Amino acid sequence: MPAITRELLERLPKTDLHCHLDGSMRLQTILSLAESYKIRLPADNEDDLRKLIVMNEGCSSLVDYLKVFDVTLLVLQTDEALERAAYELAEDAAHENVRYLEVRFAPILHTNSLLPFEKIFESVIAGLLRAEKRYKIKTGLLVCGMRNFPSEISHMARRLHDRLYTFSDVELSRILAIQTAKVTTRLSEKYPTIVGFDIAGPESGYPAKDFYDAFQEIINGHMSITIHAGEAYGPESIEQAVKYCHAHRIGHGTRLIEAKDDSRLRTLYRYFKDKRIPIEICLTSNLQTGTVKSIENHPIKTFLEDKLRCTICTDNRLVSDTTVTDEYLRLAETFNLSAKDLYKLVIYGFESTFLPYEEREAILREVEPILARELLGTPA
Ligand SMILES: [Zn+2]
Repeated sequence: MPAITRELLERLPKTDLHCHLDGSMRLQTILSLAESYKIRLPADNEDDLRKLIVMNEGCSSLVDYLKVFDVTLLVLQTDEALERAAYELAEDAAHENVRYLEVRFAPILHTNSLLPFEKIFESVIAGLLRAEKRYKIKTGLLVCGMRNFPSEISHMARRLHDRLYTFSDVELSRILAIQTAKVTTRLSEKYPTIVGFDIAGPESGYPAKDFYDAFQEIINGHMSITIHAGEAYGPESIEQAVKYCHAHRIGHGTRLIEAKDDSRLRTLYRYFKDKRIPIEICLTSNLQTGTVKSIENHPIKTFLEDKLRCTICTDNRLVSDTTVTDEYLRLAETFNLSAKDLYKLVIYGFESTFLPYEEREAILREVEPILARELLGTPA
């Protein structure tokens, strides 16, 4: 059995199925876009900006963690900026041998320059497709509705708020999520890069069930669904995501562990195992948002022992200062992972993509022999 080293992990074909565009930009690009568009950032050089944006383990909650995005969103308001950020993200992923990347973003957060709503989707898709032409990487786009109503950073949200003043912020965020879901299903016919839908933003106080109507749009379009749940709220949030919103995967899912020995919810834990529902694990991010106290305390160890399907993801490459290689290395070192465990995990990633069946199988057929040779010592 080979030793699990950074070089080995970097070489392996991998997936990253939970990766936010606005949290995974390059610092240099944020500075260069701010200069082009004459936008004042809270810092004007790489070192100071890094201190503001890159989290350390001192960040105390998901709400704190999310504040950083106000900075990156300042520069992500034009078609060129969105195209460039998407291209560079796929390029960075390709450089560490991510063979399939699912990028997620919330279009309503990019409406400040009054770009047509469809154009916002199309700009990100254009960037991803440009990277696919140049590198050995396949990409998919996950569109996010937002759980809360970010009127300070979204022009569309602000305008809606001005006109529909009898609606509460929560009601308006639901309307925006429905709008986003409708455009997602409509555009997915033209752009197969769009593979699914999600809701993001603060979890506590904004239950997935409130977005039932938006998810119905996606369900009626027979599209795939992943939902951020079980990060800042308990397993009840995960239960809602699968029960009311038909989630096919769960983003984070960390607090599913609390269901394991709960008299009512232990069947939910079992359900995840039996239905092979993938859990998108983001170790570093979980540590930074205080979802877990230490990596040693992360429930992934128990999830894997219990044979739940987990896939290792970055969440936010810039904000969490990480890569998929880093995440695997952290996991392997903390839990003394064997090459066989690693093989299983990487394969889980490829099995959990939202690609159409034939494409998913084709990539699996291509990567499986490489993984078997590298990790199981099977002759080529
Ligand atoms: Zn996330």
